[in-house]
Amino acid sequence: MHELDKKTVAYFSMEICLEQRIPTYSGGLGVLAGDTLRSAADLEIPLVAVSLAHRKGYFHQKLDAQGQQTETPEEWNPEDVLEAAPARVTVEIEGRTVHVRAWLYQVQGITGHTIPVLLLDTNLDENDAWDRTLTDVLYGGDPRYRLAQEMVLGMGGVAMLRALGYEDGVYHINEGHAALLTLVLLDRQLGSREPWEAGDADFEAVRHQCIFTTHTPVPAGHDKFPEEQVVHSLGEHLAALLSATKCCDEDGSLNMTYLALRLSRYINGVAMRHREVSREMFPAHPIDSITNGVHAVTWTSEPFRALFDRRIPEWRRDNLYLRYAVAISLEDIRQAHAAAKQSMIEDVARRTGVTLDASAMTIGFARRATPYKRADMIFSDLDRLRGIVSANGPLQIVYGGKAHPRDEGGKALIRHIFEAAHELEDAIRVVYLENYDIDLACKLTSGVDLWLNNPRKPLEASGTSGMKAALNGVPSLSVLDGWWFEGHIEGVTGWSIGGSAEPEPDETRESNDLYVKLEQVILPLFYGLPLAYVEVMRHAIALNGSFFNTQRMVQQYVRNAYFPAEGDPVPEDEEAVRS
Ligand SMILES: *Cc1c(COP(=O)(O)O)cnc(C)c1O
Repeated sequence: MHELDKKTVAYFSMEICLEQRIPTYSGGLGVLAGDTLRSAADLEIPLVAVSLAHRKGYFHQKLDAQGQQTETPEEWNPEDVLEAAPARVTVEIEGRTVHVRAWLYQVQGITGHTIPVLLLDTNLDENDAWDRTLTDVLYGGDPRYRLAQEMVLGMGGVAMLRALGYEDGVYHINEGHAALLTLVLLDRQLGSREPWEAGDADFEAVRHQCIFTTHTPVPAGHDKFPEEQVVHSLGEHLAALLSATKCCDEDGSLNMTYLALRLSRYINGVAMRHREVSREMFPAHPIDSITNGVHAVTWTSEPFRALFDRRIPEWRRDNLYLRYAVAISLEDIRQAHAAAKQSMIEDVARRTGVTLDASAMTIGFARRATPYKRADMIFSDLDRLRGIVSANGPLQIVYGGKAHPRDEGGKALIRHIFEAAHELEDAIRVVYLENYDIDLACKLTSGVDLWLNNPRKPLEASGTSGMKAALNGVPSLSVLDGWWFEGHIEGVTGWSIGGSAEPEPDETRESNDLYVKLEQVILPLFYGLPLAYVEVMRHAIALNGSFFNTQRMVQQYVRNAYFPAEGDPVPEDEEAVRS
């Protein structure tokens, strides 16, 4: 099907955000996967990606006047937009033979190089009714459904690659959902030998092929399945193989992260801070870090694309040239941002009927609605917020974000924002936009004046929306967690909430600091010294836009993980040197 380098990288991810009309993602992980493929295509990396078709998508979010969320499926038909890959494979699930096909999407890079994406699909007449639904709902169903889904991804994916003629190269497990692919590789390695005969040389052979990126900084966030379920779903043979790896929990349950950690030669977290957190969680494993990024051209608004094309035309081909934004005039940056802000204001008016004030300081906050992200922190003291506005000048806030259908805490958070917005009606305009997706993310991250982020530490592995903002000259006000720990220079690229020393959150100190920064630093600068504010915007582009992009990130994966040069120290050696 494709001329491929022998050393193909097979990139496995439960979600991949390809484009607006294909709802195969829920949030950050999928957007990162999509941006990774776009940059890999630009860089002409020999890579093929595997995910699921997710025919019912994640969901479409509706919010009523009280902020009560309801969900409807976001259905799409792959057959309407994509061609089928010329192969079928099967996976044994719960003793049944499940047939799998794949839809082929092509991600095209700047030079025309394409990355094939295989979206696996079990909706075939040969399958029984339940099996036909396995590739329908992203993160849907119960543990039985989820495990079967992960079997389709990991095991069906490896089989599909072989059926299509891809030779074994490097397997990149992007978060634990695809970890079962390691069992297929181990099974192949053993050939006709029995599971109990598996030894270190066999594990080493599998490890040699696998790369694992972990994205979750809390143990509870890792996929886990009880032993009984595992034996029932995988069958005796694979369950025996799994226990030969000795990576199950003490109670016999399967933790996808442990499996991936055990059978990968290279493991990384997604930001410097996240590496430390991951090392504490998994002290037995050498963990490196490659900080996430975003696809620069995709996430740069039209006005800034035009400005960069004019002043630093190399930026599309080589994102490092964004560093030269230091020489763009403040007036040009001010104008490009004003145009992006106007475009967002028009979009908000179309969606909500509310017309925002183009001259008012506008804060953006959009991400998954879940308690640890603390979207309502800015509303912890409404009187204080009123006072800040009357002393310094107007403020308006634009929100977006979906709560997972079963996340009651997240749903309550959205309702609370609606309540606070109602109470503040006389003083501050607050809008909450429905159905946060990539189009909306583009508008918001480029159109607001300040990107707010205040998750409970250390729960933000990286975060990427602030990177999108930086590319568009929008500074962040954020706790020092995830990418901001390394992207923040106080008063230069944006501002911090709380200090960097304390690893644990201090809610009172953080909400106080949020108010202090707005009252004493950010609003006075915005209204009193507008050009100094634009100077911060320029630094956000030059210092952060030039680094926090997937072009740099993919190059780091190539250099450190996929194809390390001969003689490079392997992470184990580094670990030995350090300790
Ligand atoms: C960028 C993006 C995210 C991830 O943002 P975080 O800052 O990591 O929370 C989630 N959803 C959409 C639609 C995005 O575009």
